[in-house]
Amino acid sequence: MSCDLTNPAFTDENAARDFLEASRWPDGAVCPHCGQMDTVKPLGGKSMGPGWYFCSDCREKFTVRVGTLYERSHIPLHKWLLATHLIVSSKKGMSALQLQRMLGITYKSAWFMCHRIRAAMAPKARGPLGGEGKIVEADETYIGGKETNKHVSKRKKGNLGGKGKSVVFALTERGGSWLAMGANSPLQFLLAYVLPHGIIELPVAVLSAAMGIRIGVALMSPPKGFTVGQNITCRSCIL
Ligand SMILES: [Zn+2]
Repeated sequence: MSCDLTNPAFTDENAARDFLEASRWPDGAVCPHCGQMDTVKPLGGKSMGPGWYFCSDCREKFTVRVGTLYERSHIPLHKWLLATHLIVSSKKGMSALQLQRMLGITYKSAWFMCHRIRAAMAPKARGPLGGEGKIVEADETYIGGKETNKHVSKRKKGNLGGKGKSVVFALTERGGSWLAMGANSPLQFLLAYVLPHGIIELPVAVLSAAMGIRIGVALMSPPKGFTVGQNITCRSCIL
């Protein structure tokens, strides 16, 4: 499927349903209630409208929306697909107000769609990452405004670089989940959320230089009370 905005799946209800059915059920409709394929038949009749199926095994009716984030909604499916495409393809996400303007829907509907789409994208488990044979990439960023942009009364002289800002650490497992949060110590964060016996990839720049912590050194000689898996290695950190 070409994912530009001229695709009929974004403008036509039937095309949107065909697209979703083809991507969800490449081998034919599957009952979302009991998982059967052989007992599923399309439902005819004008009263039902197109896109309905009936499973004679569990005797339930369903459409392709059932069991997806588009379930139980009166918003046309092509608008749902367009909203999903716009939200996931925008670098900085999209506000409900913008979605309201672009889709010609009410703010209430746009807000509802935004929440459902974002919730569907959230990782299911935020447990520890990494482990044997896995590679976890770690990095950090600083959140906070520049001193020069603050009111004179709020400026602090020594606040340069990361100083005076909040630190956010992020971990990404290659081909897996991710995790980001504020933490006081990158080392504690790593030990709490990365399983041992894997590889941690760190940026070449010193991690948390502004905090005076060189995590590469810290990992090689962990402080008292912390144990680091023997096989944990820093591939690209500077020591
Ligand atoms: Zn069934």
